[in-house]
Amino acid sequence: MIPERLARLRQKMQELGVDTFMVTQPENRRYLSGFTGSAGVLFITQEAALIATDFRYYEQSQQEAPLFELVKIEGKFEELLPHILERLGSHKVAFEGDHLTYDAYSTYRQAVPEQIALISTKDVVRWLRAVKEPEEIEAIRKAVALTDRAFDILREMMQPGMIERELAWKLEQEMRQAGAEKLSFDVILAGGPASAMAHAKANERPLAAGQPIVIDTGCMWKGYCSDLTRTVILGEPEARFMEIYGIVRQAQERAEAHIKAGMKGNEAHKLAEEVIEQAGYGDAFGHGLGHGVGLAIHELPVLSPLSDHTLQPGMVFSVEPGIYLPGWGGVRIEDLVLLGVDGVEVLSRAKKEPVIPVR
Ligand code: ZN
Ligand code: ZN
Repeated sequence: MIPERLARLRQKMQELGVDTFMVTQPENRRYLSGFTGSAGVLFITQEAALIATDFRYYEQSQQEAPLFELVKIEGKFEELLPHILERLGSHKVAFEGDHLTYDAYSTYRQAVPEQIALISTKDVVRWLRAVKEPEEIEAIRKAVALTDRAFDILREMMQPGMIERELAWKLEQEMRQAGAEKLSFDVILAGGPASAMAHAKANERPLAAGQPIVIDTGCMWKGYCSDLTRTVILGEPEARFMEIYGIVRQAQERAEAHIKAGMKGNEAHKLAEEVIEQAGYGDAFGHGLGHGVGLAIHELPVLSPLSDHTLQPGMVFSVEPGIYLPGWGGVRIEDLVLLGVDGVEVLSRAKKEPVIPVR
């Protein structure tokens, strides 16, 4: 796994014309080295792979990243940096301009001799991460299964009067109890008009019958995330809810049935958008259809009106159309899917029946 990933990065480095790649972004660092700690910098050249980290992580980095030679950071990192680059014979050093802060860059620029170029790059390792290996897909499947199970348990307990935050905690407990490492993000759980806000956090509001309730959650397994949204309603739904739910579901089913490898992110988005538009709710679907999921909850590719990303076999992403009506509420249904050569496999299995009877 790690040697292949490094080989792919080295290939990319040759295309970019850099001799050294400096990795500071945590998920990228983990992907390329195996090191899960929260501080450390990777230096990769065509021949060498170093990890610079401090006292807290010496042992851990050696256990988790055996292919990397440890460089101990004892004083200030910027004082060590020129020595590392000298030793590696670096002339053109790529850094992650979409992660390194301006302040850190300025400090490093001052510390490194002028003749060494520091070159800003964007999304290089993130693109390497977009196509998943079999082990990564297994970890995502497990995270998805833990989330599906927790959601199906939760829907059995949901009744009017229960507090949103209490339910969010139950959901978290179910996932953690079954072995999840942690949640992949804070539970989004909103009932009634608040459900029109696509990312409303669980609150002290009690659940009420007859209102849409949007629940968006996920957990992590071996560092990999899941992401699931279901919309439910307690008791007899009004006709409008069933109409809107039906449209969102149809939009999702159309996208899941027709997304193919080679398609662009904006073409995938369109599959769902056309259904919502034709039903007269075009303005009420204000976000992209989906996003890649892996070590991070939002990864490449992006499925949105502006995305020219090409969808490739082995990518895992969400398909999550929604309709949001201010003052009324929202409906979103989100599955994770795995793209194969013949289309997508839907990984999420949580129930989609929206109506929960009131006892
Ligand atoms: Zn989600
Ligand atoms: Zn999502």
